[in-house]
Amino acid sequence: MGKKGKNQYLYSISCAQCAAFVMNYRKGGKGALLRCFVEGIESPEKLAAYKQKANSKEDLDNLCCPQCDCLMGVPMIYKDGRLAFRMLNGYFHKKLIK
Ligand SMILES: [Zn+2]
Repeated sequence: MGKKGKNQYLYSISCAQCAAFVMNYRKGGKGALLRCFVEGIESPEKLAAYKQKANSKEDLDNLCCPQCDCLMGVPMIYKDGRLAFRMLNGYFHKKLIK
């Protein structure tokens, strides 16, 4: 579970093609979503489980829509060593939940 700072926002990420739910993601700040850190993924369980299971980039699958299989993110390691998905602009929508 990531730390809940004051500058944290929960977003619902969905597929831009078919609108299917992809994940709930806790993000610092309200800026553009360039990457999703694994530690910020709250659901679904399949993706949130990466927090326990993934130790390297090779442990992550591409981030795809569960319904239409559209690719929307690729595994990466951020400069500080954290695992993340590099998000493909235009292939997802994000909606602020809280
Ligand atoms: Zn889709």
